[in-house]
Amino acid sequence: MTDAESEDTALPDDIDDGALRAALVEWYEADHRDYPWRRTEDPYGILVSEVMSQQTQLDRVVEAWGAFLDRWPTVEALADADRSEVVAFWSDQRLGYNNRARYLHEAAGQVVDDWGGEFPETPDGLQELMGVGPYTANAVASFAFNAGDAVVDTNVKRVLYRAVGVPDDDEEFERAASELMPDGESRVWNNAIMELGGVACEKQPRCDEAECPWRRWCHAYETGDFTAPDVPTQPQFEGSRRQFRGRVVRVLGEHDELTLDDLGPKIRVDYTPDGAYGREWLRGLLGDLEDDGLVEVTDRDDTVAHLRR
Ligand code: SF4
Repeated sequence: MTDAESEDTALPDDIDDGALRAALVEWYEADHRDYPWRRTEDPYGILVSEVMSQQTQLDRVVEAWGAFLDRWPTVEALADADRSEVVAFWSDQRLGYNNRARYLHEAAGQVVDDWGGEFPETPDGLQELMGVGPYTANAVASFAFNAGDAVVDTNVKRVLYRAVGVPDDDEEFERAASELMPDGESRVWNNAIMELGGVACEKQPRCDEAECPWRRWCHAYETGDFTAPDVPTQPQFEGSRRQFRGRVVRVLGEHDELTLDDLGPKIRVDYTPDGAYGREWLRGLLGDLEDDGLVEVTDRDDTVAHLRR
């Protein structure tokens, strides 16, 4: 990358994007929510799941999606169906606006009549289908054909704002998201970053509980400020000293005793003995817990902490 290009980056210079990318993909591939549409590359099934999930919680979509595909297993079957039956199904399953069912039926007709039964593979091509907007087109291009752009939805914005300090501006989010996405990897990448926003970087973040792979780089994790464009006030508990005190108690509960330098990295991945989050900071937390009668700190050769029994 030239100097001119590097000045133009939407990501902070001190972030190793390669490591950031690898950590997220590894975390996603090790474990993620197993929705049935994540197991298929069939654009028809993926389009149906995307349209259904616009209005309905994912757990409920699982059942409706299975029933829909049992009834109309292919795009040809849906195109041949009677529109009123599709709308009735939609309404029975309480899937939100019935117009979505009409559009889906119409789109199936377009695929069969105008595209010879083969879905277009690019976001632009997919947007020609009835009722398919930019977000859905990109999702189908990514998950079915691995040919999408970086997804930017509210979850992704929250992650980028907190983790790499992207300002609350749509163009900046687009730029940062595209820079981060590895070329030609939209399927795994968009799934992974949306999963991060869905199970770890939620409005009330679960950084440690979900073992967020970005903790060591994350600006919010370091500063304790977990506000975001859709979280205007600091979420309760997370980011406060109370959160870290809770973590100390939990970790000490799993060990007889720990030295400061053994305990520290279990409380924050960015613990360094002499750093801003180092021994002094940890001693402060332990001091609060001693005052509360929860912990004992002993100075022998080294400082050792254990839960008061
Ligand atoms: S460390 Fe926490 S705030 Fe940062 S990206 Fe991960 S879940 Fe979000």
